[in-house]
Amino acid sequence: MFADRASFQLQSERLMQTLSDLGIRKDVLDAMAKVPRDAFLAPAFKHEAYKDAALPIGESQTISQPKVVALMTHALDVAKNHKVLEIGTGCGYQTAVLCKMARRVFTVERFESLSESADKRLQQLAVSNYVRQVGDGSLGWVGQAPFDRIMVTAASPQPPQALLDQLGEDGVMVIPIGKQEDEFQRLMRYYRRTDGSIGEYYLGDVRFVPLVGKQGVTAEAG
Ligand code: SAH
Repeated sequence: MFADRASFQLQSERLMQTLSDLGIRKDVLDAMAKVPRDAFLAPAFKHEAYKDAALPIGESQTISQPKVVALMTHALDVAKNHKVLEIGTGCGYQTAVLCKMARRVFTVERFESLSESADKRLQQLAVSNYVRQVGDGSLGWVGQAPFDRIMVTAASPQPPQALLDQLGEDGVMVIPIGKQEDEFQRLMRYYRRTDGSIGEYYLGDVRFVPLVGKQGVTAEAG
């Protein structure tokens, strides 16, 4: 077990090279390289931390595949002065990556157990520029809006209106759109134009757990 750190480091470097070959921007790779993904996994899954795979994190939820984290973070186009809203804290890995890139991250998770263990891990890694809330993230975080960026890591049949409303000037939201019964969901980038209207751009096909909430999937799926 103690030999793992060096081996993880090597595996992490290989993974970053793969992501770089895919055209992922350097600021995203730098942020991801600073966050040890193994720290977010249960002992039984740590050895798979630097494989490009989604893995279980408890409560039937999963940590996203590194390639998808990279693609979504790249598409979000985060800058140092940004205020970011993240929906679906899960294990906190994506939160940590966003914290390395933005001024402040507001993260919402519906399961208290996941939110609390994410908080512990982030504290252990000395990541502190975030605030967390347990609740229905499909409604956003009204008291803190507007946001420069919104990242949703659970799939919704439609883009929640509350989240679009909380997108500030030049705001960007990345979210998987589609029903659970569909084989894949469509990863979408929504952006607020200068005239206030919303544009959209299709990024690729992904597979995510459902966004369970008032403006997401209303009946508990699976
Ligand atoms: N970024 C996370 C992804 C976890 S999976 C990670 O890499 O670990 C998606 C997460 O979204 C799950 O933890 C799930 O509980 C959460 N989720 C689903 N619907 C939600 C909602 N309406 N509000 C907040 N979190 C939600």
